[in-house]
Amino acid sequence: MLAVLVAGCESPQSLSTSFKGQTMGTTYHITISSDLAEIDQGGLHKSIDSLLVAVNQSFSTYIASSEVSQLNKHTQQQAQIRSQEFIELLSEALHISELTQGAYDITVAPLVNLWGFGPDFKEDDVPKSEQINQALNNVGYEKILVDSRQGSIKKLNPSVYLDFSSIAKGYGVDKVAELLETNNHLNYMVEIGGEIRVRGLNPQGDKWRIAVENPDSAGKSIYKVLNVSDIAIATSGDYRNFFEKDGIKFSHTINPTTGQPVQHNLASVTVLSQSSATADAWATAFMVLGGKKGYDLAKENNLAALFLLKEGEATKALVTPAFKAVIEEHKR
Ligand code: ADP
Ligand code: MG
Repeated sequence: MLAVLVAGCESPQSLSTSFKGQTMGTTYHITISSDLAEIDQGGLHKSIDSLLVAVNQSFSTYIASSEVSQLNKHTQQQAQIRSQEFIELLSEALHISELTQGAYDITVAPLVNLWGFGPDFKEDDVPKSEQINQALNNVGYEKILVDSRQGSIKKLNPSVYLDFSSIAKGYGVDKVAELLETNNHLNYMVEIGGEIRVRGLNPQGDKWRIAVENPDSAGKSIYKVLNVSDIAIATSGDYRNFFEKDGIKFSHTINPTTGQPVQHNLASVTVLSQSSATADAWATAFMVLGGKKGYDLAKENNLAALFLLKEGEATKALVTPAFKAVIEEHKR
């Protein structure tokens, strides 16, 4: 979901190069604040696309031969060797699971599917409690063991199914950012499906202007524009991806403990972090935890986060001290 948009238009005289394309079932947009020769543009665009294909070959559950699909199909308990990138991102996801006591959990897919938010199309309906209990048996990050030294993964429950959709877009953004930096492009904005990372200055020579949307399913309007640099921004929200049945809204964020979609007045969370993967995962984690628990944990872990809560028709904002500090720093 495109929860964060880039605000402001480029003035025609500014020098910049832009790329766009499709990946991970969504779109990507990249801007570099310099005017590349056409031949270099073509080469770079190709490298970006190959890189994203490689990321998907590790993390996409839509590709049968991907690393994650191979692991998901594996029906035995013995350890499976995986690439360094795979071990790295899985370890980061498991770390956030530990810090959130399982509120964030990339094994939650059976429940996501049951509630009709997975890849299989389903009529909007509320699953039966037996179905939820059955799915819950196969959910739990502690059912996955990682041996980073061996580069191997063991599924303690062979039915456990990994789904990186809450962190892979952010990871893709980080990889593209690294590729740009390796090619000496140090002023850029990379965006995949709403997850953004910026560095240096925009084509006008200013900080990058990133808009946080009002959490409102009716239309797109801007809540606040962040003037930032050298940072990743991720937003999670329940204002667009949900279904409604008998007047109740069901969120696409699932509480892995109860097996139920979360119900609270937290409408969106925006997280700032050095790593886009980290920001992406935490944004989803906070949507599970809700405003109160989420805010306390963000503060405890010194994370920069903006929580937008619905209070009747009004929107109330809660910002962590770390978020304030980032915004203050960029005013200078
Ligand atoms: P958002 O922009 O709302 O964060 P994402 O696509 O980044 O959307 O992440 C939402 C996805 O995360 C859901 O579609 C689902 O696959 C997955 N998800 C749902 N609940 C959890 C959870 N408790 N922990 C981890 N991932 C989850
Ligand atoms: Mg996310």
